[in-house]
Amino acid sequence: MFSIERGKETIRLRWWFLLPLAVVLLITVSLLVLTIHRHASEDIERNAEQASMLAEHLYQEEIDASADMLGAAMEVLATDSRLRQALANRDRKQLLSLSTALFSELKKKYSITHFYYTDSNRVNILRVHQPDRFGDVIDRVTTLKAEQSRQTAYGVELGPLGTFTLRLVMPWTAADGKLLGFVELGMEIDHVLRTVQHIGTAKTYVLINKQFLDRKEWEAGMRMMGRLPDWEQLGEVVVNNQATEDLPKNLVGGLQKSLRTERETKQYMETGTAAYRAVFLPLKDAAGRNVGRMVLMLDVSAQVQEIDALTRESILVGGIASLILLGFFCWLLGKVGRRLEEDQHLLRDLASRDGLTGLLNHRMYYLRLDEEFIRRHRVGTQISLLLLDIDHFKHVNDSYGHLAGDKVLKTLSELVLHSCRALDVACRYGGEEITIILPETDVAGALEIAERLRKTVEMHPFKLGENKDAHITVSIGVATSSDLASSSKELTDSADHALYRAKELGRNRVECAQPIPASGKPE
Ligand code: GH3
Ligand code: MG
Ligand code: MG
Repeated sequence: MFSIERGKETIRLRWWFLLPLAVVLLITVSLLVLTIHRHASEDIERNAEQASMLAEHLYQEEIDASADMLGAAMEVLATDSRLRQALANRDRKQLLSLSTALFSELKKKYSITHFYYTDSNRVNILRVHQPDRFGDVIDRVTTLKAEQSRQTAYGVELGPLGTFTLRLVMPWTAADGKLLGFVELGMEIDHVLRTVQHIGTAKTYVLINKQFLDRKEWEAGMRMMGRLPDWEQLGEVVVNNQATEDLPKNLVGGLQKSLRTERETKQYMETGTAAYRAVFLPLKDAAGRNVGRMVLMLDVSAQVQEIDALTRESILVGGIASLILLGFFCWLLGKVGRRLEEDQHLLRDLASRDGLTGLLNHRMYYLRLDEEFIRRHRVGTQISLLLLDIDHFKHVNDSYGHLAGDKVLKTLSELVLHSCRALDVACRYGGEEITIILPETDVAGALEIAERLRKTVEMHPFKLGENKDAHITVSIGVATSSDLASSSKELTDSADHALYRAKELGRNRVECAQPIPASGKPE
């Protein structure tokens, strides 16, 4: 019988629909997660940008305010004629005696820590804050600027210990315009750094490029301040401990990575419980050199936790929704698939069977016989064929009518099927001719089956109406596969020749095929 692999269609349907659907759902959920991520990250980036702008603004504002303060103090000093005279005379002693009390007042009031008098050639006459050191040439940028412009200059300068100092230098001139020398006031900018440090939840660290420092001096300075110096900690830079805390150990790795990639943006340092977004601000000295940078560590733990929670939720919800959808489609496609299989089965049955007798049709006959020949080549057994034709069937039609003839054909088909073994294949060859393929059957076996069938038909009362029984007979041609009948066509021709002879020899009999000579006519 024609076989259909049941369930195959359903499996194929499921693959065709569920696989692309699963891919689409996966892409959709991924896009959803990515979008959530992007939005949340944008929030963090906006905050980082605001913090960066605020820090820059605060830093500049504080520096300017401090410079204003230094300027105001300088203005007061500049009005002191005794100081002017002492500077003009390069009188160290006089300058020191006039400035000592003044310096402690300036220190107390304005946190001024540096106080210099320098002559017109920039040779230091007196460091009021450190009177033992003098006589050296001052060539710091601020002093050079003041010398060049003959005007007050100010700016932040990096000291050898890695500390930043705001310096203001004023050239003092005599009434005739002659340059008397330079007076310098300076203050450390701890308070500026501390102000910036208190932006929101940020921690602030100042990093200095090593190229502007001397390792030994820096390490000694750190120890002096009671800190543990670590020159190698961050590669190209060191942490300035002037006003900020030591860098916590758990931030070192993240900071190293941010510095290495220079991609501080969108990088979060996760330190177990907290997450930070590093924001870098360049620090320039009075000469405009990039001497370091300020790092704001924005605590973004809450946002990162929110992103994680949202991601988990969207994966969970998206995953469950996808599974429900896939499950529903799986069920639906199962139903559709089964329906399709049934329809296909029906269609194939209609296309392969004869409508009147239910036997396989002419097309299927050749298909099945071809299959048997292929099997025969593999297994090596013989195939026999019976070709059966009703004797004087025209007469049945003429005497009892066409419908009665049909009934005879149906009954005969049932008798044939009844006589067949499970592996035999009965087909309606055409008109009132029936073929029976007998796989694995030799001539003797085929003749026996044919004879039994002939007798069965002969004995059977065909009911053609009420009290109308007819006895009909059949002639059967038998052929068995051989060298001369080694294909479907040749075997059918052989059986046909045998049938022809059975008719010729008087009908209601079985005839066996002879080998077919080259002429194609029976011997
Ligand atoms: P023979 O013994 O030589 O076979 O004589 P026959 O009358 O059977 O001659 P033949 O086989 O040539 O005729 C076949 C007849 O079968 C012709 C046709 O009217 C009839 N027939 C073919 N198909 C059908 C069918 O489906 N239904 C009916 N009722 N008759 C059919
Ligand atoms: Mg016929
Ligand atoms: Mg006939």
